Amino acid sequence: MNMSDCTKSNEFAEAAPLFSWDELGAGIMARAQALAAHTEAPGMMTRSFLTPAHHTAAARLAAWMAEAGMSVRRDVVGNVIGRYEGIEPDAPALLTGSHFDTVPNGGIYDGILGILLPIACVARWHAQGRRFAHAIEVIGFAEEEGVRFKATLLGSRAIAGAFDLRVLDHTDAAGVTMRQAIDTAGLGYSCADLGAAAMDPARMLGFLEVHIEQGPVLLDAGLALGIVTGIAGATRMQVEVSGVAGHAGTVPMAGRRDAAMAAAEIALAIEQRCGGVEGLVGTVGQFDVPGGAANVVPGRALFSIDVRAEQDGQREAAVADILAAIDRIAARRGVATQVRQTHEARSVPCAPALCRQLDAALRRAGLPARRLPSGAGHDAMVIAARTDMAMLFVRCGNGGISHNPLETMSAEDAALAARVASDFIEHFQPSGSNDHKEYLA
Ligand SMILES: [Zn+2]
Repeated sequence: MNMSDCTKSNEFAEAAPLFSWDELGAGIMARAQALAAHTEAPGMMTRSFLTPAHHTAAARLAAWMAEAGMSVRRDVVGNVIGRYEGIEPDAPALLTGSHFDTVPNGGIYDGILGILLPIACVARWHAQGRRFAHAIEVIGFAEEEGVRFKATLLGSRAIAGAFDLRVLDHTDAAGVTMRQAIDTAGLGYSCADLGAAAMDPARMLGFLEVHIEQGPVLLDAGLALGIVTGIAGATRMQVEVSGVAGHAGTVPMAGRRDAAMAAAEIALAIEQRCGGVEGLVGTVGQFDVPGGAANVVPGRALFSIDVRAEQDGQREAAVADILAAIDRIAARRGVATQVRQTHEARSVPCAPALCRQLDAALRRAGLPARRLPSGAGHDAMVIAARTDMAMLFVRCGNGGISHNPLETMSAEDAALAARVASDFIEHFQPSGSNDHKEYLA
């Protein structure tokens, strides 16, 4: 990109030289606040793919990367990629990064933490004149949440060479296709360049994503940081229940074929099947009685099922039991059901060799090395198709809430995460394994 387009930043000017972890933590928090100004909706954190706020946020990130001693480029989907050379120029790189788009009215640390934190670490090494055997590439992924075009993980998919060209025809709320948005983004590319955005796996030594946990596990355990063991697989289904509508006053309870009550009983069965099983979660997030009225026995009900687990076998067993429960409950209540699977993704394990290196970095910092699965999807699960992947989770405040303006974290935890991520990168040993294709969705 043309660097003259970038705003010059002074957030770190007074803090230099950047040797104190506390200063680094405070600087990361200040930059997260500063980046929150790049929003489509004043007073809210809303930044979706290739909007003006998204472009100005990208320019800000690029300026911070350049200031930290990195060469910066943008690719066809708008990913912002900063490269800090190793001791030998043009060395293969350890990649690290996360996304800078947000959900509507989301939090200011989701994704952004995993970009700002490594930029701060690189700025510190740059100030100290330190370089390593490997290069470091910090990636701000342009799109992960799937808000504008109902297609997720666009940034990481482009870099992994796994971009699904069919999504180019998706339209946003204004009727603009993704193809038009990319072609007119002013990045100097067109959709014809999508293939060229793929990074060569032979040039990748591994990938680390630092991300807020987006849950309460670390908070409840009193721990700042955790090592992610893997990203949960997921099955999503839509269920339609058809019964017989009737008058709420005249149809006796015994003779009813109430679609909503059947759906409710199925929802409770899902809660019971998934409850109390470590690592397994089941959710009915949509529940609708179309055309329902207070004085009508419901003849039709629609609901969604989302089942996730780190172990694919555990998830598949739960889904089989849920399908059996649907049949059993429907038969007993005299209703018909139609089940449509809308999404299925296998779980993606983090690379054991990198988890061990994160473990060692946490222990060197005097911190317990708690391991936990990720129930949410992340860019890391796409990059895992090309190179060894690890994730470091950072504690969320406010009960672990995320995708919400109440999302928060502390400067102390940002400082600890910067210290552990720096130590991990300084001691990084590539595993040399190149067998990653099996995870590609
Ligand atoms: Zn995120």
